[in-house]
Amino acid sequence: MKEYSRKAALNASKWNAAFNRERHEERRYSFDLQTFSLHMPISHGVKLPQSATKLGSYPVAVLPGQYTDYCKIYSSSELKGMPLQTVLSGPFTAEELAAEAQEESDDDTSVVASVGTCPEFKEEPETTLPIDPLSAEKQPRCKVCNGGRGRNKDGKPEPLIICGTCRTPSHPTCIDLTLAMITKIESYSWQCMDCKTCAQCNDPDDEERMIFCDMCDRGYHIYCVGLRRVPNGRWHCKECAVCFTCGSRNPAGNEHIKNAEWQHEFKKDKDNKQLRYACTLCVPCDKYWKRRQFCSVCMKVYRSIPEDGMVRCMGCPKYVHKDGCSILQDNERFCNYCYKSRNSTALTHSRIIAAAKKKMATGSPMWKS
Ligand SMILES: [Zn+2]
Ligand SMILES: [Zn+2]
Ligand SMILES: [Zn+2]
Ligand SMILES: [Zn+2]
Ligand SMILES: [Zn+2]
Ligand SMILES: [Zn+2]
Ligand SMILES: [Zn+2]
Repeated sequence: MKEYSRKAALNASKWNAAFNRERHEERRYSFDLQTFSLHMPISHGVKLPQSATKLGSYPVAVLPGQYTDYCKIYSSSELKGMPLQTVLSGPFTAEELAAEAQEESDDDTSVVASVGTCPEFKEEPETTLPIDPLSAEKQPRCKVCNGGRGRNKDGKPEPLIICGTCRTPSHPTCIDLTLAMITKIESYSWQCMDCKTCAQCNDPDDEERMIFCDMCDRGYHIYCVGLRRVPNGRWHCKECAVCFTCGSRNPAGNEHIKNAEWQHEFKKDKDNKQLRYACTLCVPCDKYWKRRQFCSVCMKVYRSIPEDGMVRCMGCPKYVHKDGCSILQDNERFCNYCYKSRNSTALTHSRIIAAAKKKMATGSPMWKS
């Protein structure tokens, strides 16, 4: 593996060097697919010397002259933390970076050579490490696995959530929460298991009879929410219990149903392997779900095809909302997913470029400086 890493780094460095040379010497014009405009260096006004310009921090200025004439030269230890390296070996922890910096001073072979080739640039001395050893200790670390944001227990990047009471960080998956819960958790002062109090009575005791919301992880005593026993399966607190389709905060929707309960629906994932939580519906809306009447893009249920403006996708072919969930292309209607996969190929690029050429030929104004 180490040998492959070295080879890949070497290859990348060669490519970078060639790319840097080319963008300075040959590719002076460029076409931006995002803004659909042609960029070229113009010599209106004075070109500022490097000392008078602010250095961009993007590792490679994307287009020559477009964003900056001078870009920051990264030291080899800084480059270690950049995407090529993370792909090869997983993200570096702050300690590793600091330790690397020490070794790097003698062993300056790999990637730095690539960016150092631009003739106008002089190599900066290695003074500006992204993470210095002092602040490395202050980096938040998960209280379960001791990893930072860059590395959870499986070695993958994962955000940390911080307890609003004791300020201890943890990875959601290290404490049996899902990544889907992060938005809800960050929307209030979340408490870790050690600090958890009942959101109704504020009492931290009687943990045995406390239940936790499967959306936001708030804790409640069962008797504080009018339950007799710990419910089986999912449970949503009153902050999070809302019908995914009609928005009702009552499990009976707008009907009079006695003892109505929230209906949690699950759906097989893409590989048809695992059932995953899909949404929560009120009893009236859930009737339609049970008949499989739901839009395959936004997952909201529909009462009938004409009433809710449903159309059939030419690709999958499933029913989706005409507005918002499907797109008309060449007089055929595709759901957002099918549209995306049809258009994410090189086909799009060739189309855009063809259109650009046409525009250029007709002389439409698309020149920008
Ligand atoms: Zn962790
Ligand atoms: Zn805490
Ligand atoms: Zn309580
Ligand atoms: Zn909740
Ligand atoms: Zn509903
Ligand atoms: Zn939809
Ligand atoms: Zn489709």
